[in-house]
Amino acid sequence: PTVFDVQRIRADFPLLARSVHGKPLVYLDNANTSQKPASVIEAVNTHYREHNANVSRAVHQLGEEATAVYEGSRDKLARFINATSRNELILTSGTTQAINLVAYSYALPRLQPGDAILTTVMEHHANIVPWQLVAARSGATVKAAPIDERGELIVEKYLEMLTPEVKLACVTHVSNVLGTVNPVREIARECKKRGIALLVDGSQAMPHRPVDVQALGCDFYAITGHKMLGPTGTGALWAKREHLEAMPPFFGGGEMIREVRFSGTTFAAPPHKFEAGTPNIAGFVGLAAAIDYYESVGFEAIHAWEQNLLAYATDRLREIPGLRIFGEAKEKEPVISFLIEGAQATDMATLLDLQGIAVRSGHHCAHPLMQFYGVPATLRASLAFYNTREEIDAFIVALLKVRKLLM
Ligand code: PMP
Repeated sequence: PTVFDVQRIRADFPLLARSVHGKPLVYLDNANTSQKPASVIEAVNTHYREHNANVSRAVHQLGEEATAVYEGSRDKLARFINATSRNELILTSGTTQAINLVAYSYALPRLQPGDAILTTVMEHHANIVPWQLVAARSGATVKAAPIDERGELIVEKYLEMLTPEVKLACVTHVSNVLGTVNPVREIARECKKRGIALLVDGSQAMPHRPVDVQALGCDFYAITGHKMLGPTGTGALWAKREHLEAMPPFFGGGEMIREVRFSGTTFAAPPHKFEAGTPNIAGFVGLAAAIDYYESVGFEAIHAWEQNLLAYATDRLREIPGLRIFGEAKEKEPVISFLIEGAQATDMATLLDLQGIAVRSGHHCAHPLMQFYGVPATLRASLAFYNTREEIDAFIVALLKVRKLLM
């Protein structure tokens, strides 16, 4: 195996070279959105310079090229997550759209008063609010499985809550706040035994680990492209074919029909049935380049580097008096939420920014999780494989400075 040359990797990410407030940028907000390698930026740029046209509408050369690259991205993503067929992948604007599609197209038609959707306390609002909206329309309820103090899902409770009135189970693969990796395979196995479909929010897993939807055994897997080196406004819903065949379309318009008549319209087969209107063609060209980038580095190397950084950053943070880390699961991706006693998260993030350190402060779109811990907000440092130990050191130095200022 080759040595992980982080400096060579960093050189592929133009933005990492910039400074902020006169200080070298230390970008530790990767769970929010990742930076993009030059190959992704170039792919988008080249698409607009040389191939731009709409998809599936024109027989001219450019139209064919645009269709080929767009559909090629679907193929690439399908292979990347080991889907059994490219037709199981609906390209969306991100996880939010993917989950809403399942909410309105899968869940809503089958929800009766008294039914329930199961989610968890650690979810992003994108895996809570769509369920509340369809529950309100149908008289169903949303139940949330609990977590423990370490930030691990209490799996026995989750399984206990998979009662017959549950029509869909949901769980995040990786928590965007705690970094916790959930035992998706085990949950999927139990859901299957009970005949309940399982939706997994893969937003925070895809940037860090190889995902194999067949091995996971879930029914739906939601993906967002901008956290995995791709452009904003890209993502996907992977779903088992049987579900896609049965689901009615959610958005109507061009591209998703077979024949339109005022006496009745027929729809295209999946995945096109769910892709009304002109998609983010250039974005998906970029996402395909992002997948190429991951494959060129390899998740084995990425995982080893990130886990090493996570352990180092966690140890260094633990040296700081009064610092509390939220989320100490046995299996974590490199996300660390924390607070320092007596200091407001937003004040700290603002002062860290002046030192060139980009971290996120706030509720991270996870109000129920903040309520569980009894805090309004946390600071979150989230790492990527292009981060370095030196950056962690700079972060710790800045944090100590900020702590002094605020104490
Ligand atoms: N789920 C999780 C776990 C996330 O971290 C995010 C993004 N913060 C989302 C869903 C929503 O993703 P997007 O805004 O790209 O649709």
